[in-house]
Amino acid sequence: AQAADYRILHEADLRDYLAGLPDLKALLGGEPASWEITEVGDGNLNLVFIVKGAKGGVAVKQALPYVRLVGESWPLPLSRAHYEYLALSRQAQLAPGLVPALLHHNDKLALTVMELLEPHIIMRKGLVAATQYPGFVDDITTFMARTLFFTSDLALPAAEKKEAIAAFAGNHALCKITEDLIFTDPYRIAEQNRWTAPHLDGLAANLRDDMELHVAISRLKLKFMASPEALLHGDLHTGSIMVTENQTRVIDPEFAFYGPMGFDVGAVLANLLMAYFASAGHERTQGERAAFEVWVLETVDKVWNEFARKFLDLWRTGPTGDAYPTSLFTGDKGALRLEAERQAYMQRLFTDTVGFAAAKTIRRIFGLAHNIDFELIEDPWRRAISEARAVRLARGMMVEAAAFRTIADVTGAARKVR
Ligand code: ADP
Ligand code: MG
Ligand code: MG
Ligand code: MG
Repeated sequence: AQAADYRILHEADLRDYLAGLPDLKALLGGEPASWEITEVGDGNLNLVFIVKGAKGGVAVKQALPYVRLVGESWPLPLSRAHYEYLALSRQAQLAPGLVPALLHHNDKLALTVMELLEPHIIMRKGLVAATQYPGFVDDITTFMARTLFFTSDLALPAAEKKEAIAAFAGNHALCKITEDLIFTDPYRIAEQNRWTAPHLDGLAANLRDDMELHVAISRLKLKFMASPEALLHGDLHTGSIMVTENQTRVIDPEFAFYGPMGFDVGAVLANLLMAYFASAGHERTQGERAAFEVWVLETVDKVWNEFARKFLDLWRTGPTGDAYPTSLFTGDKGALRLEAERQAYMQRLFTDTVGFAAAKTIRRIFGLAHNIDFELIEDPWRRAISEARAVRLARGMMVEAAAFRTIADVTGAARKVR
């Protein structure tokens, strides 16, 4: 049941509310009546307002008691705003400068006021326009390495880790959305599924009939449900990243919970791979996006390699959690064995990442929530060709994840797949 003092803040209410907060009133500047308020939410779940005053601007996000994309028939707890705020606070400590600054939060209103990101745009839009982001690899790999390592048992004492898991355990309704929409529905008949029809009807039927794939997606689902390795962002696609040419900001961690690290890393890689496969569909003259396509696959390679390098570096030099007691790895022999074990750990994490990346791809082509990378390809034949290439790669990545030993195996297969 929703709290009695929750109400949806429409424009006039929001103006009064912000005018009642002295720090924010001063930050915005001028008379509240003169503030310009625009609703810009383009996501599936929440309201987002941009408020601009004489001196400055803010972004205001408010959760609705239902899924915005679907309506009141699909209720969703307001508490997701609390978990988003908690995750943003933690990410700001661990990866300073890579998330929007928090300015105000009201749990009862499920409302957060944050730094206005300007002139940043949603990265996915930039990728559709074939824009290259030279600072992206460094920023996103810092974000992932630091948020994942420092919230894991590799860095934390066991009690602190378990308290941290508990702090996010109530966000299960958001986890359930992922469990259903990513790990289940695309592989069965579900009302909300859709795809480019009739072009992909055959591939959709194959997914529903492919028991090898059903086993693989179910293993991934179990890992998602039962492996609280680290604090995940939980929705780390290119629509949750805002960029300028040189800056990267990660937004929208309302799906945050303690889960398997490969889910976040796989989300980033999958969305870059989808940008690559979609690219041909956006081409108006042959070869005009060639440089972008080279860049985006290089970026896939570098995101994994730099992430792994930074994560290992933190493990070697950072705080030591309770998982690998230093007292068990003493002397030269211990140091060597521990280093080999770190490499083995990264190889398992890579296999998870490959599988989760595949799951994130298939849901965007056959499930409820699609992405503009493909959706903005107007000609359905061209869209279907791009989508089918992505699906064929994803199928292989899911059922034979461990056969991809390095990220170059993934990008090599991406170039070749038809
Ligand atoms: P949802 O959870 O509904 O997906 P998001 O947090 O992704 O909501 O925000 C929806 C949209 O609002 C984003 O795609 C972006 O365009 C805009 N937005 C969100 N946060 C900010 C911000 N801090 N500054 C500027 N724009 C923002
Ligand atoms: Mg969003
Ligand atoms: Mg930078
Ligand atoms: Mg969201």
